[in-house]
Amino acid sequence: MSSPFLYPLDSHVLRHGPQGYSDYSSYRPWLRDEFSYRCIYCLLREQWGRVRGIYAIDHFLAVSRHPAGITDYENLLYACATCNTAKGDRVIPDPLAVLVGSTVRVEEDGTIHTDNPEAARLIELLGLASPQSTEFRMLWIGIVSLATRYEPDLYRRLMSYPDDLPDLHALQPPGGNTRPDGVGQSAQVRRERGELPAVY
Ligand SMILES: [Zn+2]
Repeated sequence: MSSPFLYPLDSHVLRHGPQGYSDYSSYRPWLRDEFSYRCIYCLLREQWGRVRGIYAIDHFLAVSRHPAGITDYENLLYACATCNTAKGDRVIPDPLAVLVGSTVRVEEDGTIHTDNPEAARLIELLGLASPQSTEFRMLWIGIVSLATRYEPDLYRRLMSYPDDLPDLHALQPPGGNTRPDGVGQSAQVRRERGELPAVY
């Protein structure tokens, strides 16, 4: 079975490069696809909840410190409201570089471990090792494990991409797209080609 709390194996390299939107919320469909429809920090999946209200667009460099970064795609992350609030305006290690599977692992009991000092600092800052976060992971690991054994269709729903994948081809960022090849790798295009895995 796919584990719901496997961090990406390597540092994330941006796939998309939309530019020029005057409102950062216009980057949302790009960010959803960029970060695989889950919170960059805690891996909460869109499929596990009522999506729209619980995901924030997080500014890696807080707007209060770096106003110019408010609509800079390279400064934007897709995060659940809980992690977004926990982070606040603080300066943090780059999650795309440090929350990686080679150094961060989640055990079956929901505990999170790392031997990387920067990852440990980020986990501490965001409360990802708190009893509440550990409980959250333990519950979902249990649910997914039960579904794997007894409810294959439920398992597929829990671990699949969402139904409403954005059609990035149809979007026209006002300032263009510095990484146009990424659209061809988007989940929606891969689903159309029959290449998107049923679960991830
Ligand atoms: Zn989160």
